[in-house]
Amino acid sequence: MGPMEESYSEAMRIALEEARVSLREGNKGFGAVLVKDGEVVARAHDRAVTDSDPTAHAEMNLVREASKRFADLSGCAVVSTHEPCPMCTGALVWARVSEIAYGASIEGSRRQGRTMIDLGCREIVERAPWKVTVTGGVLEEKCSRLYDEDVRKLVKAFRSGDGPGELGRALLERRVAWFDENADALRGTLRGTAVDRAYQLILMKIGIDEEEAPIVERSDVRIVFHSMNFCPALEACEILGLDTREVCREHTERATEALIRRIDDRLRFERNYERLRPRAPYCEETISLGGPADPIRTLGGSPVREIDLHKD
Ligand SMILES: [Zn+2]
Repeated sequence: MGPMEESYSEAMRIALEEARVSLREGNKGFGAVLVKDGEVVARAHDRAVTDSDPTAHAEMNLVREASKRFADLSGCAVVSTHEPCPMCTGALVWARVSEIAYGASIEGSRRQGRTMIDLGCREIVERAPWKVTVTGGVLEEKCSRLYDEDVRKLVKAFRSGDGPGELGRALLERRVAWFDENADALRGTLRGTAVDRAYQLILMKIGIDEEEAPIVERSDVRIVFHSMNFCPALEACEILGLDTREVCREHTERATEALIRRIDDRLRFERNYERLRPRAPYCEETISLGGPADPIRTLGGSPVREIDLHKD
């Protein structure tokens, strides 16, 4: 990474903070900062939703704010979590910004299913009356996660008061229904002991491979693994400032256990809440083949065995 990219990365971290503020407010999660003489001198995020102003994009707000303080923005760089749209790129050109750096691209967002005007920032500045340099892909992966559809859905749901418990129940029903619809095919695919099959099933359902959730301990009745896969709930928690130890217990733990109990009713799934992201570099999870279930496991103070998966 060259010195230029490094300084962009530093500015991008502040732009990412702005984007998270935007999402917490109920806006669309774009952030941008102005860099002048190597220092971040202004920061902004989109307010199109809360201001009922379709032009209130992050870069537009940034230009409006900064232009009150500086005669023009020549020599300045704008660092944005997302490639500026045609409207914003135009505004940046008129403000005489010298450099534009961004994380996620318009093309990438379109692939993720977002609605965007299909015209890249570079295509516009190439036709500008003066020179503007454009650098894409700054902290791209981190920025792109802000625009991931599953992350967005969770942010929206957590914000709207559909607590993790509510979502967890819906997730549980979906996972069990998915297993039942595909039971014959799944039973034919899964191999090994009950805990092996449970592990394979979890990976298959989440759509990850073993490298993203390596097994660190294994016996005939117990598998411990470290999940390091992209996790929308983790991202949503980071954006909203929620504690994963609370959210993940209610949101996914029961749903995962209900899923693997379709293989064998004695299977258990547990997380080690002392070793959970973001406090640990991975989430430690255990599948075990136990005796009869504890009659009551508490979840937010209430008994959670109300859904009976026994067939007999
Ligand atoms: Zn824009």
